[in-house]
Amino acid sequence: MKVLKFGGTSVGTIESLRNVKSIVESLEGEKIVIVSALGGLTDRLIATAKKASEGDAGFEQDVKEMAIRHHDIIDALVAEEAKDYVRKTTDEFISQLEDVYRGLSLIRDLPERSMNQIVSFGERMSSVIVAAIIKDAKHFDSLDYIKTEKWFNRNIADRGLTEQLIRDTFSELQGATGVAGGFISRDRDSGEITNLGRGGSDYTAALIAAALDAEELQIWTDVNGFMTADPRIIPEARVIPRMSFIESMELCSFGAKVIYPPTIYPVFHKNIPIKILNTHNPSAPGTLIKESKKEPEGGICGVSSVRNTAMITVEGDLTVNVAAINSRTYNAMARNGISVYLVAQPGSDVSFSVAMTSAESARALKVLEEEFAPELQNGEVRSIQSTADLAIIAVVGEAIKKHHGLGDRLVHTLQRHGIDVKAISDGASETTIALVVDNSNVERGLQLVHGACFS
Ligand code: ADP
Ligand code: ASP
Ligand code: MG
Repeated sequence: MKVLKFGGTSVGTIESLRNVKSIVESLEGEKIVIVSALGGLTDRLIATAKKASEGDAGFEQDVKEMAIRHHDIIDALVAEEAKDYVRKTTDEFISQLEDVYRGLSLIRDLPERSMNQIVSFGERMSSVIVAAIIKDAKHFDSLDYIKTEKWFNRNIADRGLTEQLIRDTFSELQGATGVAGGFISRDRDSGEITNLGRGGSDYTAALIAAALDAEELQIWTDVNGFMTADPRIIPEARVIPRMSFIESMELCSFGAKVIYPPTIYPVFHKNIPIKILNTHNPSAPGTLIKESKKEPEGGICGVSSVRNTAMITVEGDLTVNVAAINSRTYNAMARNGISVYLVAQPGSDVSFSVAMTSAESARALKVLEEEFAPELQNGEVRSIQSTADLAIIAVVGEAIKKHHGLGDRLVHTLQRHGIDVKAISDGASETTIALVVDNSNVERGLQLVHGACFS
């Protein structure tokens, strides 16, 4: 059994949906197809929610346009005998959506619960339509089996429950083609609609692939594969034919948008290979992600970058207790649900830094001030300071350790071009060198680093 995921870029137009149909129908054997909302729709649903909650009546026109977009696709691609049903189902969703917007415009507020409901309509509509376009396909509702639980201020998948429900649900498949929406879920306790986060359809597909021990997870998108850098920033980036799970995990957690980061773990755990393929160019070989290369070829796999990063630096006399301070920092962050991108520690033992998303930096600062309150008092820690508007450039490769002095060379390259490197670290795993620069330098920095690694 294979799981195929088609992103918004693959289900955005009548033309690309024709490709989806032919890709799925020409693949033999049992398969489950996971789809995103029509390209750009989730952004539009969110923008319209903001409008409605500000009392702007323009939301009504937006809803009309969204309905037309779906209708056009149904008219062009759904077989006559299924049209009525698909149109009625879509119109029912559109009317529920309009009701939610109307409610927001009355209360002039945008509760998270309503936003979650609003964005869910994208995948609920697209999945019903795609199921009707593909021959002999059966629709499944992901709200029935993808369950989340609250974790700090986030909704995260309840892996155990979800896995069991996926197995129960898809036991009915029996050789056929299943189609379901990605991204959407329900809270396991309250039953409220939730989601797996922006870009989360990849994760839905991975949860299904892992629960059913699929032979392969295919991520169909709009590029020829996982590339050595984001092709929108680095036009000369090239496709990576083969990479390891760890390499893909590192590149994605440092900003390579091609796969939503949590996706890789469930399939990695089950050793299910991932293929990245292009819906608009299905014959391109793409990228194969699987277990570690036995003998690293010595190459650097790729580079990526994340903006909107902040760094907190703890300064003091850390010589005596540096290991303990490090682990207390990590633990305090983990206890509070804050993910740390990197830890940077210059040799001097007078300071160390941790980086996280800007959105989490205020909370992280508070957590660390509380954690080190005794040391701040007795002077062992002199200061804890947060720096905003940073970005991380990551260089990833399983054989990166073989490239002695690569980090220093990259720092010099950047400095020669006037880009200050605020910190450097080996990242969470040994496959990554992470360089912290100002947000404003990230594109130029990425070009220089990509050039240095791949020219
Ligand atoms: P989808 O709608 O299929 O989920 P996304 O927009 O989420 O598509 O992901 C695909 C996009 O990821 C590409 O269009 C590309 O711009 C971007 N991207 C960022 N980094 C990389 C990379 N290293 N390799 C390929 N694509 C990348
Ligand atoms: N439609 C959702 C988003 O745009 C989920 C996804 O596409 O993966 O974020
Ligand atoms: Mg995506």
